[in-house]
Amino acid sequence: MTAPSGMETLEGGVLPVIIMDLLTPNLADITPEGLSLTGDITGDEIGLTREDTNLSGALAVGLDLTKVEQTICVTGVIEGTAVRECVRCLKDFEEPMAFSLRVVFEPEPNAKPKAGALAAKRVDARRKQAEPVQLETDETGDEIYHYQGDRLDLAPMLREQVILSAPMHPLCKEDCAGLCAHCGKDLNEEPCQCPVEPERSPFHVLRGLKTELN
Ligand SMILES: [Zn+2]
Ligand SMILES: [Zn+2]
Repeated sequence: MTAPSGMETLEGGVLPVIIMDLLTPNLADITPEGLSLTGDITGDEIGLTREDTNLSGALAVGLDLTKVEQTICVTGVIEGTAVRECVRCLKDFEEPMAFSLRVVFEPEPNAKPKAGALAAKRVDARRKQAEPVQLETDETGDEIYHYQGDRLDLAPMLREQVILSAPMHPLCKEDCAGLCAHCGKDLNEEPCQCPVEPERSPFHVLRGLKTELN
């Protein structure tokens, strides 16, 4: 059985019914009281690759949908565990992930680019850490996605929100000592024997002080 990508979720038959409902809710099911969706989803089910975000296990998703005319407001919480690479020691570590989201879905305007294309652009920009691109938001600052027909396709939005929630500079621990720039030794394990270069290290004064105090 092959895992469906986020692009294929509207074509029935591939996904189990419960996932279909969670990721592609029917607009008609959003009553005046709203619609609550909860469940576990895998990265595959929302088109999230290991390169996007490496998940350990499934994501717990809890979403509340409310509808005002053709505009659907989606709020909720996503929880899971991500495997990230520490920017200092380059080791993989597991990090709890929990974030809330609040986005708006509006009917696809014919002349505008597809929401998926916009989303891809924004994610690319985030990856390159370039100038922030202009997010499409409404007057309250909520991010806007678009839908067509009588169902929402939540998978691309969820994938994007998971990627955007990632820290820019993941650290395995706040004070990770990193690797020695000369010998590559993991300085979290023990100090290496490389000579300190006093004139080039901005920390030599501090190190000296610390040695005297000890
Ligand atoms: Zn580290
Ligand atoms: Zn060293």
